[in-house]
This record gives sequence, C-alpha cells and structure tokens, in this order.
Amino acid sequence: MTSDQELDERVKRAVDNFMAGYGCCQSVVAAFADLYGLDDTLAKKIAAGFGGGVGRMRMMCGAVSGIVMLTGLDCGQTEGSDREGKSACYKVVQELLAKSKEDNGSLICAEILGLKGHEKAVCHYEASPRTAEYYKTRPCAAKVESAARIFADYLRKTLVVLILCLTTLTASAQMLSKGVSKELAESRKANISKVVYDLSFDIPENLQEKVKGSAVISFSLKAPQDVVLDFQGEFNGICYVYDMSNKKKKKKKPRMIDVNYKDEHIIIPMKEMLEGENKIELDFKASDKALNRNTDYMYTLFVPDMARSVFPCFDQPDLRAVFVTSLDVPKGWKTMMSDNVCQLPTYLYSFAAGNFQEETAVRDGRPMRILHRETDPDKVAQIPQIFDEAAQSLKWMEGYTGIACPFKEYGLLALPGYQFGGMEHPGAIQMNARRIFLEKNATEEEKAARLELIAHETAHLWFGDLVSLKWFEDVWAKEVLANFMASKITRRKFSRVDHELNFLKTHQTRAIAIDRTDGTHPIAQELKNMNHASLLYDNIIYDKAPVMMRMLEEVMGAPEMQTGLQKYLNDHLFNNASWDELVTTLDEAAPKANVRQFSDVWVKQKGMPTIHTAYKDGNIVITQTDPYHRGIVWPQKFQVRLIYELGTSRTVNVDMKESTFTIKVAGKPNYIIPNFDGKGYGHFTLDDEYAVILPKRLLTTRSDLNRYALLLTIHDNYLLGRIPSSHFGELYRFMMKEHNPLIMSTAVDHMFKIAFDLAPEQRKTLELCMMDLLGENRTKECRQYVIRKLGSNATAPELLDKIYAIWQQHNDPLFNEQDYMNMAYRLAIVRGDTYYPVLAAQRKRLKNADEQREFDYISRVCSPDPALRTRLFNEMLHPQNREQEPWALKALSLLCADVYEPVSNALIEPGLKSLQYIQQTSDIFFPTNWLQAMLGSHKSAEARLIVEKFISSNPDYPEYLRNKIFEAAWILMKQQTYITKAQPVVVEQKPAPAKPAKKAPAKKKKQKK
Ligand SMILES: [Zn+2]
Repeated sequence: MTSDQELDERVKRAVDNFMAGYGCCQSVVAAFADLYGLDDTLAKKIAAGFGGGVGRMRMMCGAVSGIVMLTGLDCGQTEGSDREGKSACYKVVQELLAKSKEDNGSLICAEILGLKGHEKAVCHYEASPRTAEYYKTRPCAAKVESAARIFADYLRKTLVVLILCLTTLTASAQMLSKGVSKELAESRKANISKVVYDLSFDIPENLQEKVKGSAVISFSLKAPQDVVLDFQGEFNGICYVYDMSNKKKKKKKPRMIDVNYKDEHIIIPMKEMLEGENKIELDFKASDKALNRNTDYMYTLFVPDMARSVFPCFDQPDLRAVFVTSLDVPKGWKTMMSDNVCQLPTYLYSFAAGNFQEETAVRDGRPMRILHRETDPDKVAQIPQIFDEAAQSLKWMEGYTGIACPFKEYGLLALPGYQFGGMEHPGAIQMNARRIFLEKNATEEEKAARLELIAHETAHLWFGDLVSLKWFEDVWAKEVLANFMASKITRRKFSRVDHELNFLKTHQTRAIAIDRTDGTHPIAQELKNMNHASLLYDNIIYDKAPVMMRMLEEVMGAPEMQTGLQKYLNDHLFNNASWDELVTTLDEAAPKANVRQFSDVWVKQKGMPTIHTAYKDGNIVITQTDPYHRGIVWPQKFQVRLIYELGTSRTVNVDMKESTFTIKVAGKPNYIIPNFDGKGYGHFTLDDEYAVILPKRLLTTRSDLNRYALLLTIHDNYLLGRIPSSHFGELYRFMMKEHNPLIMSTAVDHMFKIAFDLAPEQRKTLELCMMDLLGENRTKECRQYVIRKLGSNATAPELLDKIYAIWQQHNDPLFNEQDYMNMAYRLAIVRGDTYYPVLAAQRKRLKNADEQREFDYISRVCSPDPALRTRLFNEMLHPQNREQEPWALKALSLLCADVYEPVSNALIEPGLKSLQYIQQTSDIFFPTNWLQAMLGSHKSAEARLIVEKFISSNPDYPEYLRNKIFEAAWILMKQQTYITKAQPVVVEQKPAPAKPAKKAPAKKKKQKK
C-alpha cells in the first residue's frame, strides 16, 4: 500500500510533470492516476482542458481541479440513486478545497496570478511558452505542489482505514498460520484496544481431568473486521456475542454463533463485530502445557506465548489488557494471582493454586506475601530476610527511577523444581525455591546471588511490567535492564563480594562461550512468529547484553544513563516500547556518546573481535579483526600490562575506536598481558613467544581481578590452540596458593577441561593432582570447589574411594545435601556395583517430600543396565515425563555422562531428531539446556560424526535451532583441532608439568594409610 515515502514521491512527480511542460491539472492528476487503475495517457487527456483555470479562462485553478478529479476517482459514487455516496464525495471535495484556499489565498487562477504582484496573465487560448522566465515569474509549480500535497495528506489519513480493510481481506490467508505472526500482531494492534479478560477456571485435583474455563472478552474496534483470537486448547466452536449496539440491549442475553476454530485461531466473523465496543463469551478446556500441574499444586507460566494454551486471547505483548480472574480450586488450596489494578501483557498474567504454606508481612507500608512448600525450619526462617531484600530492592528502584511502584502487593511464589530463576508477574512473582532458600553453609556469593535474583525480578516491575517490550524480539532488552539494576542493588549490599570478578565469571565468560561458536547471532534478532520466541533466549541475551550495557554506561556516563532511563520510563508508562526507542532517548541524554552507532555494532551485529597485541619496532600495536570480514570495529576500552626486567612494569590504557591502536614504549617487554583489567571483550591473542609464557604470570599477579582476567585469557588461548595443555603445571602451582574461591572455582573448571581433553590414563593422573590440592590449598571454600567438581566428574579409582568416604561420613560442613546427592549419582554411575546400596542410603537421608521426588526421578537413570537407561531416555522425549525440567536436565546429563561413551552415543541422533518437538513442548530455556546436557560430555569422533551428519542431512533445519546445536557442540566439533595442534607442544615442553605429576603418587600412598 501507499507508504509515506511513496506519497512524498508522488508529490515530487507532480512538480516534475509540470516542469516537463504538462499543464497544471494534468500534472496533479497523472501523479496519482495509477492508484486507481487509470492509464497515464488517458489521465493526461482527461485533465488537459482544465489548465489555466479551465482552457486558460482564468477560472478555477487547474491544480485545484486536479484535486477534484482525484477525489472523484478515490471516493466518487457510481450509482445515480446513491445520494449518500454523492454527499460523502462532496464533503471531501469541500474539505480539501477549503484547505487549498487556506494555503494559497484563493482557488481562482486569475486571483492567484494577481496575488503578490505576479504578472496577471491574459485570457487568451494560446498557451504560454515554457521559458526560464515563465517558471521564475509564475507561481504555478508551487500551486501544483500544494494541490498534490493536499491530496497526498488526504490519502495518508485514510491509509490506516485502508490497511485495516486490506488486512481483513487477507487475514484468512497469511496471518492465520499457526502461532502468532508479526503481521497478525501488527494488524490487531492497529485495530483493537481496551481489552478486558474476565476469566473463570475450574481446577480439579485429579491430573487426568482437564482444567475447564470460560472467558468473557471485551474489546474496542476501530473498524469492524474478522477478530482473530489465539488458542491451543479444546474449543467446541460456539461463541456468544453480546449486542452492544445500544444501551438498552446490553442487558439482553448474548446470541449464540458458530465460529471457525482452525490452526490455533478462533475467528469471529466481521459481520458479528461493531465499530467501538464488543463483548464475546466462550467456554473451553485448557491445555496442560503452561499449567505446571502437580499432585497438589499448580502454577501458570505464560512467557512468551503460552497464555494462548490456557485461554483464548490476543497473545502479543503490546495488546495490554485488564484481567479479572476467578478460580474454583480443591478445598484447602491457597491461591495467588497477578495484579489486576492496571493493564498487563498476556505473558505477565499468572495464577497459582495449591497446598502452600503462607506468610505475610508489611514492609514500608506495603503488604508482602509468600506462598511456599518448604519444610526445613532453617529455610523457612529465612522468609523475613527475603521480604527485607525485596523491600530494599523496591526502595532502591523507586529512588533510581523516580517512579513509585504502582503494584499494590508484593506477592512471591517459591516453587520447587521451577524451570527458571524467577518470573516477574506483578503481584505474583515466581522464584525458584532453591535459589531463595539457602543451604546452611551458603557462601557470600550464594547470598549475593539470592539478592541479585530478588533485585532482578523487582527491577522488572519497572523495566518489563510498567514499560513492556513491543514484540518479543526485544526480550533481551527487558532482561538486560533488569540485570543492570540488580547488579547496582547487589553491589551496594555485598561490598565484600568482588562484583567485578562475579561479572566476568557470570557474564563475560558465558557470552564468549557462545560468541566464539558458529551458532552465534546478534543480541537483537528478528522474530517473525511468537511460536519461535523461546529460541531467542540464550547466553547472548542474558550475558552478552550486560557486557554491552556496562560498556554503554561507561561510554555515556552514569548520570546521563539514569536521566535517559527515567525519561524512557516516563515516556512509556503502562505502555510498550522498543529497544530502538530507548536508543533514541539515550542518544538525547548523551549526544556526544554516539549511542546509536554503539548499538548498531554491539547490538545489531553478531560475533566478537580478535584483538591481537604485538611488540613491533619500539611500539605496542593492537589490532582488532572481525571474524566475519565485515570491517566492523567494536568500540571498547581495556588495559594492557607490559612487564620488563626486574619487575618494572607499565599499564597502557587502550581506548579502541579504530581497528589499530599504536603506542610507543620503552623497548621490548618480557611479558605482555592483554585485557589486564578484564574490561575488554573478544579473543585476546599474542604472538606465540608471548602467548606460551603467559601462564607463568598467574602466580605473580597479585590483584584478584587482574589474576582472574589473566586466567580467562589463558584458557581462551588454550581453547584456541595457542597455549598447549602442558600449562596445567603452572595452573597447578597457582591453584595451590589461590585464596579467592571465585577464581579457584573457575581454575578448577579449566583444569578439569584439560583433564577431559587428555587420554584416560593421563586424565586420571591429572585428577589425582587435583586431589592433592585438597592437602595444599589452605582456603576452605577453595577446597570445597575442588571436591565438588571431582565429586561429580572423577574417574580415578583412588579418588572415587576418597569421595565414597566423604559421602559415607556425611558430616563435612563443607557440603550440603545437594553435594551428597551429586556424589551418590557419580558413585552409582562409575561403580555399577555400588549402584543400589549408595542410592538407597542416600534416599533415606532425604526428609523433604519434593526432594525425595526429585531424587527418585533422577536416580533411576544411574542404573548399570543400558537398556533401562535407553528406555528412560525415550520416555523423556515426551513432555509429560519431563514436567520438572531441571530434574529432566540433570537426568539427561547423567545419561550422557562421559563414562557412558560410546553407549550413550546412540542417544544423540534421537535426541537431535526430537529437538523441534522438544522446543514446541517445553519452556524457553529447555532446548538449549537439553543440547548442553546431551552433548556436553561427549568427546569421541563417533559422537562428532553423528552431529555433523545430522546437520548436513537437514539443510533446511530452522536456523535458530541449528545455531543452538552449533553452540552446544562447539567443544565436540572443534576439540580435535586444538588437541592435535596442542599435542606436539606438550611433547616439547615435557619438563614443565613434571612437578605436579610427581606429586600424584605421593598422595596415593597417603590414601592407602
Ligand atoms: Zn528477567
């Protein structure tokens, strides 16, 4: 249809026509004639006689006559008896001509030419020659432009209506594919408003019985059209329509009509709908998909597009609605519903019911309420602290945004086996019980992580709930803003926790782990249909976006960022906005920061640079290269450390805006440490001579942050094949002394990755070296990480003896019940003979019923019988057997444990083949986690071949899902390359790792004592 830009072009075309010698009327009419199927020549012929105020008689201006002709083409009546149509056309003519008179002073040619001293043209039939003088003195070109502009503006106004008519005609075709397409959402947004859902649900205790519901849906239409509702449950095709045409009739009973229910849509025909208010009623049975039904509790989780699986609705984030809910639940069940004081998108609507414990409190005058199923008194005693943390987060957010929290009650639902960390339904925020009820010996980091989760969900009340995204492709933006706020809140409270380290550990490393793979993508992705929204969620949106946001704040300045965010919230209160709209606001708040250019690279482009630092002729030269050869430079700031003889050193601050950064230095350094402060993002590489000696700096780098950043750079270079696996000697020496548990936990992972890459016998030796750390390292939490890692990954028999002893004693304050469960799983898997006694004893230790159910579900897969394991795997392909998704993921990772290779290779193909079905039948994070759990522990060439074969034999596989496979299989697909590349260096450097290798047998003796 005619876009704004196209209309502007038509105005220009009218002037061009005139300048090419056509008469004024011809020029205007010919510029629009094709819109009405009128041939260009014919148009010019019809309009020819009207030039010069009708045949040069200086009556009505020809350009104005052009408006009249076009109006007739657009809305002229064609039946003689159609008085109404005739009048409508006259009305438009009068309006447009009034506008023309207002703009030009007159409609009469003679008067217009006489105005403002223009030469008064004579009334003669001979047309004037079109000379330069003519165009200079006559105002006619301007009159042509004015007339064309007036008609274009008229078209622009009618455009909305035209689009609505057009979409109604085509609605049945392209928009009504399954799911919610962007076209459908846009056409509904243009026509529908003021939506109210009055919902009733009957929730039976018996899981075999369906949840029955009824919905009275009111909405307003700009123009009558087919109304398309989204629904995936059972519906009998009968709809009741209330007569809203006049006030008296409103009380009348609604009339029953048959409607079409096809491809997940219910279509109410246009003839039943009115301009303005409409009201319909439907009865239905909900699908169980998003109801999370358990024997004695249930909760809904609709993000991103699952509201439509439970009730008929317009399931798109920008059609906000008021929800009124009534629930019929089994006796004794408690309920919790999302706030209904204001309009919410469907994905934020929620209700829950069940056998929950309830506690209430008031903080800062605000009622708070929690429903939970916890039975451990130590954990229940943490509830006041949880309320405090929520209240502190609310207060901080009100201060930062300058906007009081609009939602009345702070309702919290703590759920066992919950599939996310949390979900921000206002008034009914859901949280993973395990994340908020901490174990007795929780570390400072775990406590900080709880506050971070509570702060994150609380921050969403502003960024996500008060202002929501327009379409789900911007889901990352609400997440990054909530993260950004949460980290500010947590930083203030837990000053003892090293937040910079935490940031590197949680965000930087996870983001890079995906950005380095072939499956990576930009932070901003296009979403054509809501039924693919779940595929947008991964570590790029959760972890790269925060890295980007932190850099953006550095570029803009913190006060400017706050001003921009406040304006953004105020501009879109109780409404929806896109990332690009936020960029516009931030750009205005900090005009010099180039926010838009920054966003174009960091948000809209995929991948990350390789940043190489080299010494060359008295200079340090840093170069950025784009792995995809697009010539992109990622603007960023970071430090490079140069170390010379006798410990003298220099820190270079790099502000990279171009692809090369050069700085003069005092001679050739002994060591170069790139990205010393960890603020940079990318692969940081060095020339070989510098890369291989990098691990030597671990022991001597004193600052925790610098040491941690160095550790990450070393590991990345190891994965890139630039540092050999023999560097584990240096790694071991530094781990003996490491006192920071965060650094230790990452180092343990790195060490284990090296062990995993080695041949089985070498791996066992390295595991024993790691066990030695238990005797060498003095920091309790550091030892805790070592044993946790070994406890669920060990293969060396001596080590398994030790783990068995720890598990059996069951009294080490370093470990909690989860740790003991993991040890039991590992022992059962690796030592088939202990399968039954270990698991039976572990089961007896568990007191909480939910925990027992979890253990029963997971421990089955530790069976030594491969046939049983395959059967359990096949069962998990069906959604009803993986209702508690975290349990299913743990079970899958055990089924695909390293020690089960090659038997477990047989699970890969069916696991990949089911991926699309799994994606359709699971929650948003599940497909990614399913792939990680299934592929993460494989290392054989056979496993790699299976994955490669699957990818090559499915060339039309959906891109989003294929990317996820590339992400999860990166280690499997690429490891061969770097192992073979690293191997020769291992041989050359054999003396280096000798020290820890010698230690291992010594420890073995100790074990025998
Ligand atoms: Zn979130």
